[in-house]
Amino acid sequence: MTFPLAPGAMIGILGGGQLGRMLSLAAARLGFDVTILTPEANAPAGRVSARTLQADYEDPAALDEMARTCAVVTFEFENVPAAAVAHLMKKGVAVAPAAQALAVSQDRLEEKRFANAAGIATVAFSAVDTVADLNAALARMGAPLLLKTRRGGYDGKGQVWVRRPEDAAAAFAEIGERPAIAEAPADFRRELAIIAARGRSGEIALYPLTESHHENGILRRTTAPARGADKALPEAERMAVSLLTALDYVGVMGIELFERDDGKLLLNEFAPRVHNTGHWTLDGCEVDQFEQHIRAVCGWPLGPTRASRGVEMINLLGEEVRAWPRYAAEPETRVWLYGKSEARPGRKMGHVNRMMRPES
Ligand code: AMP
Repeated sequence: MTFPLAPGAMIGILGGGQLGRMLSLAAARLGFDVTILTPEANAPAGRVSARTLQADYEDPAALDEMARTCAVVTFEFENVPAAAVAHLMKKGVAVAPAAQALAVSQDRLEEKRFANAAGIATVAFSAVDTVADLNAALARMGAPLLLKTRRGGYDGKGQVWVRRPEDAAAAFAEIGERPAIAEAPADFRRELAIIAARGRSGEIALYPLTESHHENGILRRTTAPARGADKALPEAERMAVSLLTALDYVGVMGIELFERDDGKLLLNEFAPRVHNTGHWTLDGCEVDQFEQHIRAVCGWPLGPTRASRGVEMINLLGEEVRAWPRYAAEPETRVWLYGKSEARPGRKMGHVNRMMRPES
């Protein structure tokens, strides 16, 4: 495959959620078509894409069809089975980001080890495969510890605080006695995030730092750019550049950080894809994260990342989506809805970007 890809080419996306939907809209604007592979019927991304293959991610016929028809394949969530990516690569199709980024980010333990080896600070942590391992971690690091499954957790799922050593067995049972990681508390004063992009020729573009507000492990709000973050910015940018370079990364990556009271930054985790903390770029930047990702995987030059205005991004979770008429009536607010019919509690149904006035 020769890059840059010319408009008219087909881009494959593994995953059919809202991130795929917004990637597909961005791809269409640049003249590309998109094929979505998703097991879900009526998926948010499929409804705005040229083609949907409804099949399991490891379905060989669906993957073969993708390899035959797509010039490049990317993904919109990181829990795509590694075997699916390996199958596509064996068929000779370009996959971006590459398999290593996916493998590292799928395993919280590997992710932290990789980060530390690349010179990026994280909380102290310990591998936990048994209750004895957890007891040893408690003896070494003290309580409390946050016990997380190594794989498959998201939005605060698969995590439990171990507040006292005597709670170890119950905590390990609560996460299903699965391979896990025990983390020291981050003791952060706030959570920051940075959206980073790397193109096929190795050029890097970084968006401004933003501030994340979580509730019950789910992102509620992003303020962009983060206020008072001048001191944190150089270190955040250094971390982002180290990660992208160490992974020889192509595409957009979402990087979540803790800022401690002493100003020190720690990496929480990274996602090898467009990210909820970057939704503000849709209305705050000339080139948003979705277009940036399409540009990167297609070998186009990266676009500008500076904030043209401040934005407050608010997630609409579950029934909150019913408030769309109120948001739609606000002149400074843009509404993004994902076309999901069932508003389950905590489900990301849409978001709004509220443009901040220059003096605020
Ligand atoms: P995660 O899924 O690992 O990003 O965790 C979800 C949220 O839990 C984070 O955004 C933090 O608010 C919180 N959290 C995660 N890890 C830690 C930690 N080691 N110490 C304190 N809070 C944490």
